[in-house]
Amino acid sequence: MTAAAQSDLAALSLEEKASLLSGANFWTTEPLPAAGLPAVVLADGPHGVRRQAADFDAVGFFEGLPATCFPPAVAVGSSWDPELAERIGTAIAREAQALGVHVVLGPGVNIKRSPLCGRNFEYYSEDPLLAGVLAAAHVRGQEAQGVGASVKHFAANNQETERMRVSVDVDERTLREIYLPAFERVVTEGRPATVMCSYNRINGVYAAENRWLLTQVLREEWGFEGVVVSDWGAVEDRVPALAAGLDLQMPGDRGAGDRRAIEGVRNGEIDESVVDVSARRVAALARYVREPADGFDVDAHAALARELAADCVVLLKNEGETLPLAPTARVAVIGEFARTPRFQGGGSSNVKATRVEPALDAVRTLAPSAEFAPGFTLDGSGDAAALRAEAVELARDADVAVVFAGLGDTEESEGFDRETLEIPWAQVELIRAVAAVAARTVVVLSNGGVVTLDDWHDDVDAVVEGFLLGQAGGAALADVLFGVVNPSGHLAETIPLRLEDTPSFLTFPGEQGHVRYGEGVMVGYRGYTTLDRPVRYAFGHGLSYTTFDTTGLTVEATGRDAARASVTVTNTGERAGKHVVQVYVGTSAGPVRRPARELRAFTKIALEPGESRTVQLDLDRRAFAYYDVIEDGWIVAPGEYAVQIGASAMDVVAEAALTLEGDRVVPELTFDSSVGEWFGHPVTGSDMLRLFRSGMPAAVAEAGGDTSLLMTMVGSMPMRRFLADMGEFIPVGELERLIAVAAAARDGRTR
Ligand code: BGC
Repeated sequence: MTAAAQSDLAALSLEEKASLLSGANFWTTEPLPAAGLPAVVLADGPHGVRRQAADFDAVGFFEGLPATCFPPAVAVGSSWDPELAERIGTAIAREAQALGVHVVLGPGVNIKRSPLCGRNFEYYSEDPLLAGVLAAAHVRGQEAQGVGASVKHFAANNQETERMRVSVDVDERTLREIYLPAFERVVTEGRPATVMCSYNRINGVYAAENRWLLTQVLREEWGFEGVVVSDWGAVEDRVPALAAGLDLQMPGDRGAGDRRAIEGVRNGEIDESVVDVSARRVAALARYVREPADGFDVDAHAALARELAADCVVLLKNEGETLPLAPTARVAVIGEFARTPRFQGGGSSNVKATRVEPALDAVRTLAPSAEFAPGFTLDGSGDAAALRAEAVELARDADVAVVFAGLGDTEESEGFDRETLEIPWAQVELIRAVAAVAARTVVVLSNGGVVTLDDWHDDVDAVVEGFLLGQAGGAALADVLFGVVNPSGHLAETIPLRLEDTPSFLTFPGEQGHVRYGEGVMVGYRGYTTLDRPVRYAFGHGLSYTTFDTTGLTVEATGRDAARASVTVTNTGERAGKHVVQVYVGTSAGPVRRPARELRAFTKIALEPGESRTVQLDLDRRAFAYYDVIEDGWIVAPGEYAVQIGASAMDVVAEAALTLEGDRVVPELTFDSSVGEWFGHPVTGSDMLRLFRSGMPAAVAEAGGDTSLLMTMVGSMPMRRFLADMGEFIPVGELERLIAVAAAARDGRTR
């Protein structure tokens, strides 16, 4: 914003300032020529620009302008590659400029709490570090080109069921450790123009009206200076939303919200300065407005979409080196998805792709003799038995049958959650029938949320999980199948054996208006590893056509609460490949239950055959910390930590022990503190014991002064109760002195 615009703003009327606080229509902010402020154009992302020809189309009734459909977040999550995410952000920004868009709404960093969430395709991971690192890179790429980003949906929007009303009932430690860190990283590292608040309530309060979330955490703790925009239609009452820190209401509601804001100021509900602050933030978005660029390179971006998609593919199983396929192999391509690919999810992120590259075409380019049978129809119509029989005949004569299976558009989307992990039964029957006759069977999956493999997994030789890969996904899958690209994707979410095993099973998606996050921090692999519960494929799993060796792990403390890990990786196979080094930390130190292990650092490296590289990974304070709700902050507990390198969250290939000095926590002492806390207090505990001994009752003295049984029995009793019932001999004045000593030590504590 120019200095002129700044000063003009001061001269604006309340009505003019309020007009800035909601959209002019579905996609643009209200221009204010008097203040030199143009309309800012917003459009959906996150994996491509969804610039709509009509203003008021929310969910695709009017088609958008063509744009490249890059791999959606579910695929990017599997890449474990921030550089890849950044390249997508950069490319999307270039297209936005060509399409006259100033802020692209994305990325979405909500945690995959349940595999059933209908929008999991739009989110990266069940792990906050992985989601945060990838999203921050995407935002960096986009913002560096001068196009605003909008990290969403803030916060705890982890399901579609009742998303506009449900209250997410979640404790603060779980929010801080699981559901907020990805946002925190994007805000502090990626510096997005906007943060989009979610529809849902958090502990009863709408995100849009949640001052703790939008102001205390986001601005005061994380230093966010941009605009908080509502999710489309998330504002119930403009006045509490403004007071909470929500700046821009989208879409516009023909001035109703503005009028309510003005009324709020006039009747004293909010101060005019609140309107001023938000108006100034929205006005500052004008810095993103520029003349549209002259088109974008459609071919180059299509090629980029193919290159990046291939690096997202996860090879789950590959028995007897079934893959890669030889170009000379007689390949039976089976499954309608090979011809009609499913490459993105439904809802607000649906991009009108510039082109679509089906796997069948790309396979035929690489292996011209490949033959095709659809095997099933996408809408379940037709004669399933006849379609299956045709596919089985094809498979019988082939060297290898490649079955493209998965979920269709109607089975998962924004707006609703799935009820099952199953793929349509006709596809299961097809896979089984093909596998029964084919020399080798490969299954290639396209799905936004994870699906169960159980009904057919053991019948087939290889499984390729493509998730949703964007417009070039089919071609990218062919590249992986034939070894043009060596797969390097790893699961960013667990594939469970059964839905009943998922940590959120008992409480997802909630009931009677509430969803209780009862599993706490034990989300995804944190739950499976802590409970030692088997899964089909663990978080972090992913095979390659080459092999890697991990050796020489060393870990050294780099202070009282941080460390550096160093490890050597060697490509021991015959192909170049990319490897992800996954560093997990586990501990039982501290007063809260910790997950068995948590991903704390990772890096993806490319290695030629025979090449070795030693990588160093910094583990900062947060890698060891838990959120302490009594201390209201992050604490590194003194003690032992295990630093582990995992081929997945369930396959530890190297481990080193680390002792950390950690934080010195001096707990507060009051008469409500328990007897155990009084005696165990690090500063005053020994004085307390002396005090007790000096006035000890005769019975305890006769027992030789052994207080251990007494302590066990009364340890959890509040001191107030203990004094009244059996501790009259302890001088209250002395206890008050100890309270003061503890308080002074607390003030001077180090962290
Ligand atoms: C979605 C957002 C999207 C917005 C605008 C909402 O329903 O939740 O992700 O950006 O619509 O289309």
